Amino acid sequence: MNKETINVTKSFLPPMEDYVRYLNQIWESHWLTNNGPLVNELEQKLKEYLGVKHLFFVNNGTIGLQIGIKALEFKGEVITTPFSYVATTSSLVWEGCQPVFADIDPRTLCIDPDKIEAAITDKTTGILATHVYGIPCDVKRIQSIAEEHGLRVLYDAAHTFGGRFQGEAIAAYGDLSVLSFHATKLFHTVEGGAIVTNDDELAHRISYMRNFGHKGQEDFWGLGINGKNTEFHAAMGLCNLPYVPQIIADRRQVSDWYCEAFAGSVLFRPEIPKGTEFNFAYYPVLFQSESQLLQAKEELNAADIFPRRYFYPSLNRLPYAPHRDMPVTERISPRVLCLPLYPDLRHSDVMRISQIILDSFDA
Ligand SMILES: *Cc1c(COP(=O)(O)O)cnc(C)c1O
Repeated sequence: MNKETINVTKSFLPPMEDYVRYLNQIWESHWLTNNGPLVNELEQKLKEYLGVKHLFFVNNGTIGLQIGIKALEFKGEVITTPFSYVATTSSLVWEGCQPVFADIDPRTLCIDPDKIEAAITDKTTGILATHVYGIPCDVKRIQSIAEEHGLRVLYDAAHTFGGRFQGEAIAAYGDLSVLSFHATKLFHTVEGGAIVTNDDELAHRISYMRNFGHKGQEDFWGLGINGKNTEFHAAMGLCNLPYVPQIIADRRQVSDWYCEAFAGSVLFRPEIPKGTEFNFAYYPVLFQSESQLLQAKEELNAADIFPRRYFYPSLNRLPYAPHRDMPVTERISPRVLCLPLYPDLRHSDVMRISQIILDSFDA
């Protein structure tokens, strides 16, 4: 019996000698941060990989969201999803906006375009939606709603790396998208993220905003913040990027094992829209009740297996966000559990995890 702890995820690490090769370059150049050669190389490669015009490597996804909110000049009411990681809502509040929640589609768990439309007022300045678990939002409908009302769309694309929809990177949709490269994400730079846009004007603003507003050494374009990332983080990204296809293939294999094990069970899985090349970033399952989830979680924990309740509680319950009843989200959020998923998770572990869950239904 294998006794090691299994967590919901395990960060990918490249062969150490790959990283050391980049460290040698850094020691040679003495260029540690501030738009260095490795940051430039990573940005170039990510632009090619995602097929986007502009990409800014930043120190984390949350600062990326905050810069995005500023660059898009969101203020007043911003329509957003209650089913996401806390950073989606907190970054709006931190930037002085009022999050106005719109409920989710129970099939995809992404924001429901009809609910967006219903939430628009004359104070609405934008839409901030999350591609939950890497499942694309209804990007076409959201785009047409936004155009009709003169709003701009910011996507929290933290989960989408490697995922595509109708032939384009999911992160390429919207006026602006923000990726997270945190250590727990599919592709990571330890800490890090990227702001992506095809809009030249937005890119121009972001290029200054990311670097304190500096325009040369003694002149300032306007207000900025320190959103830069370092050569060390870029090096980790350059090491990890070539492994992304293998990371996705391995995750798909683990997901398939779970799906086989749960076939015919009462567990519900979110729907992936047609036209999606899914990245298998997460393996969420929806239980029939919260007590059924808690029972399964307790038995997994007793076996040193630690799934995560993503996303619970729902964000409309945050103490600093205006409360609104979100019946769909509140029905789903207490019942959803993300199971361990990472490239070297073994078949025997997946069988053990799924058996514990299936057995817990009889408890
Ligand atoms: C990880 C994550 C973030 C935050 O990204 P950081 O790089 O950790 O700041 C934001 N939104 C979602 C949905 C995330 O999963």
